[in-house]
Amino acid sequence: MSNPTVVIAGAGLAGATTAIELRERGYEGRILLLGAEEHHPYIRPPLSKEYLTGKAEFEDAYVKPADWYTENSVEFLPGEEAGSFDPGAHELFLHSGARITYDSLVLATGASARPLGVPGSGHGAVFALRTVEDSRWLRTALEVGGRRVVVVGSGWIGMETAAAARGYGNDVTVVGRSSIPLGNVLGRELGDVFEKLHRDNGVAFHNGTHAVAVDGGEEQAVVLASGERLPADVVVAGVGAAPNTQVAERSGARISNGVLTDKSMRTSIEDVYAVGDVANPFLPAIGRHLRNEHWANAIAGGTVAARAILRERASYDDIPYFYSDQYDLGMEYSGYAPLAAGAEVVFRGDVEKREFIAFWTRGGRVVAGMNVNVWDLQDDIQRLIRSGERIDADRLRDESVDLAAL
Ligand SMILES: Cc1cc2nc3c(=O)[nH]c(=O)nc-3n(C[C@H](O)[C@H](O)[C@H](O)COP(=O)(O)OP(=O)(O)OC[C@H]3O[C@@H](n4cnc5c(N)ncnc54)[C@H](O)[C@@H]3O)c2cc1C
Repeated sequence: MSNPTVVIAGAGLAGATTAIELRERGYEGRILLLGAEEHHPYIRPPLSKEYLTGKAEFEDAYVKPADWYTENSVEFLPGEEAGSFDPGAHELFLHSGARITYDSLVLATGASARPLGVPGSGHGAVFALRTVEDSRWLRTALEVGGRRVVVVGSGWIGMETAAAARGYGNDVTVVGRSSIPLGNVLGRELGDVFEKLHRDNGVAFHNGTHAVAVDGGEEQAVVLASGERLPADVVVAGVGAAPNTQVAERSGARISNGVLTDKSMRTSIEDVYAVGDVANPFLPAIGRHLRNEHWANAIAGGTVAARAILRERASYDDIPYFYSDQYDLGMEYSGYAPLAAGAEVVFRGDVEKREFIAFWTRGGRVVAGMNVNVWDLQDDIQRLIRSGERIDADRLRDESVDLAAL
C-alpha cells in the first residue's frame, strides 16, 4: 500500500495547524504544505500591532521554527500556488504546471485584502495590509512621523492601524462607512467606547461616509462622497478581506461566503476539507454556517480537519474568539456575532476607565462577552455562553457577584 498523502494548499496559520495536529496525533503519512508566499507559516495579528509599531521582529510571528517542518517530515513548498483539482482523480494542479496526487486535500488559502476600488487607489501612497511585506512598507511610511495619514475603513485593521500611526506621531483621520467605528461587529455601545479611545488619542473621524477617489495630484488627497478632500501623505485601505475561494470554485466545491463545510470541515467534495478564513463551516451550537476571519478560528478549523482526516470524532465546537490591542487598551471577545447583533448589552465594571466586561444577552442568555483591560475571564465568559442559561442582568452587572459563581 502506498504512503497516504495529505496535501495542504495554503501555508498560513490554518494550514500549518492542520499539519501540526496531524503529526501530534500520530499521522505517519506524507504531508505537503504549499504556500503562495515565500515565508514559513506566520501569524498575522502582529502585522497591525507589535510588528507595525516596531516592537517585535518578524521571526516572533512564525507558527513554528523552520526546523520543525524538516524534523517532522512536513514537506514545505514555498512559492507554490495551487490552481485547481480534479475530485475524481484526486489530483491537485499547481500554477507551476506540477500535479500532486492526494488522499486528502485541505484548502487553507485564507483571504486577501479587498482593494479600495476607487479611482486613484493604485497610487503608491495607498497601502493595504495582509502580508508581512505590506506591514513592512506601511511601517516605513508611518515611522517617519508627522505625516497626514487617512485610514479608509473603521473595522479592526483600520482601527489598529490608526493606533499604530498615532504612536509614530502622525496626524490621523479615519473614514468609515458605518456611523460608528466597529459598529458592524460590536454595535453602538461598544463602538462608542472605541471611538472615544481614538479621539482621546487624537484621531479625527469622518463616519457614515466613504472615499470616492484618491487624488494623486499636487496635493494628494482622499476625496469623500460629499466632495470634501482630506489631504493625505499616506492612505491605508482597511476595507475588509475576501476569502480566496478560487481553487475550490474552479474545481466545483460549493461556495457561499467562502467554501461551505460541514461541522468536520468537509467540503461538498469527498476527501477535500477547508479551514481558516476561506472556510464557512457549519457550527452545531448555533445551527448555521459561520465564516470567521480570526486567529483562533484558523487553529480550531485546522485541528478539526486533522481529526476528520484521521477519521476521529471531529466537530467545530469552539466558541469564536478574537483579540485586539489599541494604545493601552487590550480586549478579548468570545461569542457568536450574528446572535450578538442587536442584542442587549450589559456592562460590568468601569466603562469610563475602560476596565470592564460587556455581555451581549438575548432573552437573558449570554451570546457574547468581551473583557477590556481586565484579564483571565475568558473561561468564565465562554462557560456562560455555553451554558445557555438565563442570567439576571443585575447579577451580570453586579461586581460583588463572583463571575465564576454565575
Ligand atoms: C493585519 C492583520 C491583523 C490581524 N489581527 C488579528 C487579531 O488581532 N486577532 C485575530 O483573531 N485575528 C486577526 N487577524 C486575522 C487572522 O490573521 C486570520 O484570521 C488568519 O491569518 C487566517 O489564517 P488562514 O491560514 O486561514 O489564512 P492566511 O493567514 O491568509 O493564510 C493563507 C495562505 O495561503 C496562501 N494562498 C492563497 N492562495 C493560495 C493558493 N492557491 N495556493 C497556495 N497558497 C495559497 C496565502 O498566500 C497565505 O499565505 C488579522 C489579520 C490581518 C491581515
